[in-house]
Amino acid sequence: TTIVNRIAAGEVVKRPANALKEMLENSLDAEASLIQVVVKDGGMKLLQIQDNGFGIAKDDLSVVCERFTTSKLETFDDLKSICTYGFRGEALSSISHIAHVTIVTKTDDERCGYKVSYADGKMKGIPVPCGVNRGTQITVENMFYNVPTRHRMLKNFNEEFSRIRDVVARYAIHNANVGFSLKKYGRDDVHVKTLANSTCVDNIRSIYGNVIARDLMEAKETDETLQLKFHILSTSLDYHAPQLTFLLFINHRLVDAEGLRKELDLLYGLYLPVGTHPFIYISLEMAPENVDVNVHPTKHSVFYLHEEAINKKIRLTIQQLILGKQG
Ligand code: ADP
Ligand code: MG
Repeated sequence: TTIVNRIAAGEVVKRPANALKEMLENSLDAEASLIQVVVKDGGMKLLQIQDNGFGIAKDDLSVVCERFTTSKLETFDDLKSICTYGFRGEALSSISHIAHVTIVTKTDDERCGYKVSYADGKMKGIPVPCGVNRGTQITVENMFYNVPTRHRMLKNFNEEFSRIRDVVARYAIHNANVGFSLKKYGRDDVHVKTLANSTCVDNIRSIYGNVIARDLMEAKETDETLQLKFHILSTSLDYHAPQLTFLLFINHRLVDAEGLRKELDLLYGLYLPVGTHPFIYISLEMAPENVDVNVHPTKHSVFYLHEEAINKKIRLTIQQLILGKQG
């Protein structure tokens, strides 16, 4: 049976890291090759993301923060084959209802850029011309200023920052062609830094520290019967790393899959020496109609056809990789 992880669509943005994930996906949808994130107070005070993507047309600025405004869905049939990250047009709208949002953007078609602020989904005033390069900068300030209970719950800025770092790190590893950086506001130290056109392994090393080269294993395969393409990269990290680091992307979306994570944790426990810190990155690509991304607005949880068979395939592949190394 397919594990159905349907969470009633409720709050889209629960914490700064959720907002950031949505904004990163928007920048990637806009074909950015450089994405820079700046954060203050764990993203609660300030969360700013700058990209060099194709920008937002001036005429669209009045509606981007309205609910269900999306440039990514033309017909209902498109819902069945969503190839971009976004499709609901709920993210920016939700964010603008719980924070102060300012957008500065420029497309190739316009001679200058435009700056505009939003509150509760509505544009404040009219876009002001400004001189900027192609791309989009979105600044989110004072998150949950109007939701006191949530504001009170998110007091641990270090915790929020580490969640943000995690999201940036994971997207950076999956999108090795794109350069990412993460900084704290007013500080010089870089918490995530990857170059455009680097490799997955370079990025794992620069983000998670020492990669134990002899444990590096990789498989790229296509399975016709399961209509599945997958890329598995597994290694181990030094003792500084968490016990298990597991990244799963399905059709380029970062998702949670607690079931698969546990299965792999067990598998590694069986084969690897005690004290190993495995790192597993898996990217699955399958026919869009086989994946239900329309589960939860934050899109962390997805469920997919043939889940059990696919998980088994992944387990067997990893087992073979490990045994191949040991044999
Ligand atoms: P969705 O991504 O589901 O379409 P969002 O609320 O995330 O909805 O974004 C609304 C719209 O704003 C997008 O469809 C896109 O047209 C535009 N947009 C948001 N961020 C960017 C960006 N960084 N670059 C270009 N366009 C963007
Ligand atoms: Mg989006």
